[in-house]
Amino acid sequence: MYSGWGRCLSACLSENQSNHLMALAPQQPSLYASVLVDCPAASEAYTYQVPAGWCLQGGEVVEVPFGSQVVRGIVLEVLETVAPSVDPQRLRSLLEVVDQQLFPKDYWALLEQIATYYCTPLIQVVRTALPPGVLGRSQRRVRLRRQQGIPPLSEQGQHLLRFLQTKGNGDYSVRYLQQQLPKVERALAELERLGLVETYLAAPASQQPKQQQAVILLNSEGETLTQRQRQILRYLQQQGRDCWLQEVVKATGTTAQTLHRLAAKGYIAIVEQQHCRIEQGVAVTPDRPKALTPAQATALQAISAHLDCAQTFLLHGVTGSGKTEVYLQAIAECLGRGRSALLLVPEIGLTPQLTDRVRARFGERLLVYHSGLSEGERYDTWRLTLMPQPRVIIGTRSAILLPLVGLGLIILDEEHDSGYKQDQPQPCYHARTVAQWRSRQQQCPLILGTATPALSTWQAVQTGQIQILSLPQRIHATPLPPITLVDMRQELHRGNRSMLSRPLQDALGNLQGQQAILFVPRRGHSTFVSCRSCGTVIYCPHCSVSLTGHLFGEEMEVLRCHYCNYSQAVPQRCPSCASPYLKPFGGGTQRVVSELNRLFPQLRVLRFDSDTTQRKGAHRRLLAQFAAGEADVMVGTQMLTKGIDLPQVALVGILAADSLLHLPDYQAAERTFQILTQVAGRSGRGTHPGKVILQTYVPQHPVITAVKAYDWDTFATQELSSRAPLGYPPYAQLILLRLSGPDAEEVAATAQAIAQQLQTLAPVSQGEWEVLGPAPAAIAKIAGRYRWQILLKGKLERVSNLSPALMHLKEQCPRSTRLSIDVDPLNFL
Ligand code: ADP
Ligand code: ZN
Ligand code: ZN
Repeated sequence: MYSGWGRCLSACLSENQSNHLMALAPQQPSLYASVLVDCPAASEAYTYQVPAGWCLQGGEVVEVPFGSQVVRGIVLEVLETVAPSVDPQRLRSLLEVVDQQLFPKDYWALLEQIATYYCTPLIQVVRTALPPGVLGRSQRRVRLRRQQGIPPLSEQGQHLLRFLQTKGNGDYSVRYLQQQLPKVERALAELERLGLVETYLAAPASQQPKQQQAVILLNSEGETLTQRQRQILRYLQQQGRDCWLQEVVKATGTTAQTLHRLAAKGYIAIVEQQHCRIEQGVAVTPDRPKALTPAQATALQAISAHLDCAQTFLLHGVTGSGKTEVYLQAIAECLGRGRSALLLVPEIGLTPQLTDRVRARFGERLLVYHSGLSEGERYDTWRLTLMPQPRVIIGTRSAILLPLVGLGLIILDEEHDSGYKQDQPQPCYHARTVAQWRSRQQQCPLILGTATPALSTWQAVQTGQIQILSLPQRIHATPLPPITLVDMRQELHRGNRSMLSRPLQDALGNLQGQQAILFVPRRGHSTFVSCRSCGTVIYCPHCSVSLTGHLFGEEMEVLRCHYCNYSQAVPQRCPSCASPYLKPFGGGTQRVVSELNRLFPQLRVLRFDSDTTQRKGAHRRLLAQFAAGEADVMVGTQMLTKGIDLPQVALVGILAADSLLHLPDYQAAERTFQILTQVAGRSGRGTHPGKVILQTYVPQHPVITAVKAYDWDTFATQELSSRAPLGYPPYAQLILLRLSGPDAEEVAATAQAIAQQLQTLAPVSQGEWEVLGPAPAAIAKIAGRYRWQILLKGKLERVSNLSPALMHLKEQCPRSTRLSIDVDPLNFL
């Protein structure tokens, strides 16, 4: 566990490491620093001399020499002595302090916790957390020197010189030259020896707070003022604050010169001020807190009573039940106590309305943080969260890694969303897990809001670790739309082979000017095999996940479990009913659109999926088009479920519910319930309840019947009781090792070797952990890389017994094979 700020990871250097270090230091310095350097080759801390007279603290970003480079690093600790095995004379010196006070002390403990739990080197966690541009590496560069006359040169030397001379000062990075010219090293050495060029180290570019001119009003009355000048002073007076010079020029139609004249006369002062580059939202009209419903009031009271505790709450309520209003009022209380609140959302581009609502309530106290910001914006937002002023920060998963001084409340909206988990690169952290740690560290509450909780959250409610707050009804008391199931087996019997069932076709033909949404789940890249006559799907006998069809050429011949590697041939006939209609499942949005065009040429159709929403702002635009009635039907994927407030829709059609149900994933049922419930909730959000038509081959499946009845409790109880005997989360813990590489045999052999080695570990032989696989991943090849995986299944809270061994596995992989460790994986494809 954490042992205090600045714990030294390895104060002493091994023989091997000290080879990097050159003798330096003429005088006897008395302080040393252990530094975590940002270099892939360096996994431990290195010790450096602190130049005399420096006042250095843990957590500062410094520049240090490392091998032949200059790299950035973070001071872990300032030491007065070094280990006896280290000769202080041989230590190199720190070069420069780059950035100070970049995070508070307890923040470091959080990063260490992430590194340990997620089996990731600390520096990699630091790199993920810090805003871009803080760390970085220097570049070795070359430039021409002035020279009279050119001495005789080798052919390669001449070639390089000519190359350099084509650009003014011949300034290039050595790496670039190496890529452009063969055998450039020798030629470079020759030119350098002859004094024709010099090489130098260029420091990494730094992020600096930006300075900008501001106008301060000193005196607004005077005899000698012109009309124009009076106007400017009146404007400043009205603003009641310092204004940016550019802003004044624009707003009053004046010039910078006029302002400088006013400054010379002593009416205003013009000064340089730090200008924070933060995302400015669209202007919104301010709004006021609403009078709460009794259920909302009860929820808010419970939260208010725990504002100084690390209590986790589940705010459980369907879309439209008033969760956001509870968040906003809880945030207001938190700010009132002088602390900041963090509101996390799965994806910011998909939730513009939420951001607008927070801005309307809290105005300039709002900060937005996500990976779409510019580097400057991220750096400045980071710095602002170090200040003690209470603020509201709204952001995506990475915002949980902000320093957040004075944090008093954390909220995860749509807490079940898998967007909160990082799949790659490591650390594969889950924002909810990290939020729980922060809540304990800061003694502040954590609110998880959703209509469809993650089963792990629900289980924690059952065991009393999480307190549930329910909002049982929609605010405007519109009932949930009734769901009609259509048995697609019957459709086939009746001779309808279209993707659109008769009842759905009837409903589409009878829209009468109202709008419809057709939901087509994104088909994973993998395929399961199902019987069109009876709905049977072929599952692994050991793992309770569907088998994945592997293609050989055009034909699907083998079905394989990608958890345990069980395999079998594709049967010719259905094992249940002997029907020959045993087929891989699927059909995308495009096919549905063309089917619609064929059957209903009069309907105007919009497609809403990852293809049509790639461009910035495309989401908003497509939704606005639909809201404006420019289309009758919107055909979309999972994207439809992401917190979007769709306009009034009379009909929701769910085309291929089964493709979610039978994904090769132990969480398939949970995901299906969540997604189908969310999609169904898109219907009838105005005054009409609307209706939902759900097409399936397995209408009797417990997940489908629970969705039809909106019965979360029954579903959750059933699903939890089926996971317990199989040893799946939340009753056990999983770690997924993913291997990939361009050489199929090498990846497979490495996976075998690693799995065998894992078997010999004590926690495995003692039965705490079980090794499943290796097996090819469900998507066996991506971008020319073959993929294998090993699944570790263990008792709860035993990751730490295994993590030290896992951290060393990478050293055993051949160069071209990549290994990544995913603790608590959500994505198995
Ligand atoms: P959720 O976050 O659960 O989807 P919202 O907080 O967005 O629910 O509430 C749904 C709608 O009801 C919003 O338009 C919101 O402004 C409104 N609303 C929420 N609480 C109240 C209330 N107590 N009184 C009146 N309107 C409310
Ligand atoms: Zn069958
Ligand atoms: Zn299996």
